[in-house]
Amino acid sequence: MDDRMFRAAMGKFATGVTVIASEMDGDVHGMTANAFMSVSLDPKLILISVDGKAKMNEVIKNSEKFTVNILSGDQKEMSMIFAGQIKDGKKVEFDTFEGLPVIGDSLVSLACNLYQAHDAGDHTLFIGEVKNLNVQDGEPLAFYEGNYKQMT
Ligand code: FAD
Repeated sequence: MDDRMFRAAMGKFATGVTVIASEMDGDVHGMTANAFMSVSLDPKLILISVDGKAKMNEVIKNSEKFTVNILSGDQKEMSMIFAGQIKDGKKVEFDTFEGLPVIGDSLVSLACNLYQAHDAGDHTLFIGEVKNLNVQDGEPLAFYEGNYKQMT
């Protein structure tokens, strides 16, 4: 099994798309992530997997807080900006929720304190304890076989 085959196989798992946001030295940093799951109800825990080489890895280890913003079907541009797929230097305005940066109009925004971090191969698994959340109606942005999809 080579890397390409592993990636292609994992791409068969359809997911939603999130933008993780956090802050370091007064600068807000965002990163697109689909490696996200719910972990526990009591306490309320979620998990994200972040590449060891991603700037976000350092930012979360430093701030020990982050938000997870589940994107709606009309927020594909946000995903592309925070994945570095659009690099026009356009300023993105963040809202603030529980003192943390969030993407406005997301389907869900979760404000998390870092609960545990586990290095796993070339990624770090960050488990967040959800302190509060915002939910809105709408259709999610989906990702499958390396492409964005709409749920309709
Ligand atoms: P950078 O590459 O420096 O930043 C990412 C981009 O966001 C840059 O273009 C930067 O200009 C922009 N940006 C950051 N903050 C701001 C701001 N405040 N205002 C405006 N623009 C800003 N990687 C993972 O590790 N885990 C995953 O689960 C994962 N899932 C992905 C899912 C999808 C659908 C896609 C497309 C990519 C995914 N990636 C994932 C890859 C990851 O999004 C990219 O590798 C990303 O570039 C890594 O970000 P970084 O923290 O290294 O920062």
